[in-house]
Amino acid sequence: MKKAVARAYANLMRKFRPRKLAKWKSAGILLTYRCNAACAHCYENSGPSKRAVMPVEHLREVLREFKKLGFTGRDLHFAGGEPFFDYKYLIDCFNVAKEEGMLPLGKLETNGFWCKTDKIARERMTEIKDFGIDTLLISCDPFHQEFVPIEAVRTAERIGNEVFGEGVVVVAPRNFLENPVDMMSLTEDQKTEIFRGILDERPLRMIGRAANVLAHLVENFPKEKFADDHCGKKLLWKKTVHIDPHGNVFPSVCAGISIGNTMKTPLSKIHDDFDINDHPMVRKLVDNGPLPLMEEAIQAGFADRKEGYSSKCHLCHEARAFFWQTGMYGDEVAPEEAYVD
Ligand code: SF4
Repeated sequence: MKKAVARAYANLMRKFRPRKLAKWKSAGILLTYRCNAACAHCYENSGPSKRAVMPVEHLREVLREFKKLGFTGRDLHFAGGEPFFDYKYLIDCFNVAKEEGMLPLGKLETNGFWCKTDKIARERMTEIKDFGIDTLLISCDPFHQEFVPIEAVRTAERIGNEVFGEGVVVVAPRNFLENPVDMMSLTEDQKTEIFRGILDERPLRMIGRAANVLAHLVENFPKEKFADDHCGKKLLWKKTVHIDPHGNVFPSVCAGISIGNTMKTPLSKIHDDFDINDHPMVRKLVDNGPLPLMEEAIQAGFADRKEGYSSKCHLCHEARAFFWQTGMYGDEVAPEEAYVD
């Protein structure tokens, strides 16, 4: 009931809001899709088989564009994939950020796999500290710990507190570090039960790998359940944006929906000249959510899942994955990594 009222209110408000991009206030730069892990919940579908890395000179252009849009380094975070997958490359990125006056960086995200010894952790953190960051975020949950020993996270936190002082290293979510389960020793069935338990507690964004690997663990519904669940907030009015290694600009956290490419058009122009009529798929999502897209996909040959869809984002992902295969909606559906493992 509460949800229905909230949706009705959101639909009403939508009529009065301009269909323009909000002024972005924070941004993630996905330096790479490469990762030592292939977490089941990864909405970007990153993993060891992925190769894409943002060229350092392109990072420079992106940082200059963020500056034009009023950003400082503190409004940015470096993420992936795993930014520490190629440490030398990460340092090159920090050097560019330094040359462009975009340090300290707001946040650097990692799964901490590289904290294999105190010595490595200390050396790398000391170097990063010299560049300047506000937060070193270490992911810690059953999904990551399928691939990263919990001991590495403990080392990251302990050495991080020593090198940076308290408060810079943030392990999130923290409760799993306090009560860990040795995910690496479990059977597939045991892991599935743990994942199911997490999903019962909080919904996850079912796009990317999560759509393919986790969506069947929760209740699924016929596509009609998501009628009129529009996406204006996420696609236009949220003040967050992500840039992927290929230069694709993802509104908010909707990986796989590109509203422009910074390798073709400067970021500030993508933002300032945004006209929803140039983005037919985004326009449909803003007006009516993913159901009309799915209906189009079905008309074009997609087999509607008889088991249904776990959420509107899952519905959206399935429609877009079909569009990716068939070329429908062209550049709005990108990159390949979001759709293909
Ligand atoms: S349904 Fe699609 S566009 Fe809407 S929030 Fe989910 S992923 Fe983003």
